[in-house]
Amino acid sequence: MRLPHPRTREPFASPVPPGAGWPGDVASPATPVARSADDVARLAAASSDLADVDACSTVCRACPRLVAWREDVAVVKRRMFRDQPYWGRPAAGFGDAAATLLVAGLAPAANGANRTGRLFTGDRSGDWIFAGLHRAGVANQAESVDAADGLALTGVRMAAAVRCAPPGNAPLPAERDACEPWLRRELELTAGTVRGVLALGAFGWGAVLTVARHLGWSVPRPAPRFGHGAVAPLTRPDGVVVHLVGCYHVSQQNTQTGRLTEAMLDDALALALRLSRGTPPA
Ligand code: SF4
Repeated sequence: MRLPHPRTREPFASPVPPGAGWPGDVASPATPVARSADDVARLAAASSDLADVDACSTVCRACPRLVAWREDVAVVKRRMFRDQPYWGRPAAGFGDAAATLLVAGLAPAANGANRTGRLFTGDRSGDWIFAGLHRAGVANQAESVDAADGLALTGVRMAAAVRCAPPGNAPLPAERDACEPWLRRELELTAGTVRGVLALGAFGWGAVLTVARHLGWSVPRPAPRFGHGAVAPLTRPDGVVVHLVGCYHVSQQNTQTGRLTEAMLDDALALALRLSRGTPPA
């Protein structure tokens, strides 16, 4: 996939403007647009509910490299999807607004969520995580193909640490930091119910620890290390404990090599769900 030369970036623009009727798009032409990391921090802090976070984050243009990449991918398209419209915007959180468990991933896939507009939807990683959530009884269907497929989660919300598809699935540290306030605000606004976070991969794990520190939560020292099945208690100032659980990422790199099996995913999901619900071990 080519990246546009800086001088040619201007012609690229989000192929789906807010308010164009894309399924699940809660932004409108009046939604404020973040154009810098400071804007993200300000708009995230000012978001009064999840719909605000979803709307503002999906029109965000704070990271020039990622904006150029996501929009270029949406214009060039993968050959097998050439007849489909691409979202080409950041992917908001998705799921139950009263979730007890947040599933934290890395970032949208260039031809997955960047195409369908819904996190994990339309790629192999999504096939794995939604099938797992369905086996766990918290998704109404095992497949996710597009943003209008009727998928619904119960008690679970998903969010990405970085909301734009990055080249090579590798956001830069500055991009990770710029995007952090969206996830932070999402955790603040779900504080009434969220008691567990399942981090898919080390990147998501680290992002949640950073958010927790920024929220003033007590994080064990030394910093808990990511591992499949690892658990770290994060204690909020009000004494409520949010359990962070690690799970190998559902990327093809892991699922096709056997590093992550269905049984391993099911075990990590079950552990995270049990801790988030405050239910004792079986
Ligand atoms: S990565 Fe996050 S902060 Fe950067 S442009 Fe995308 S949504 Fe905005």
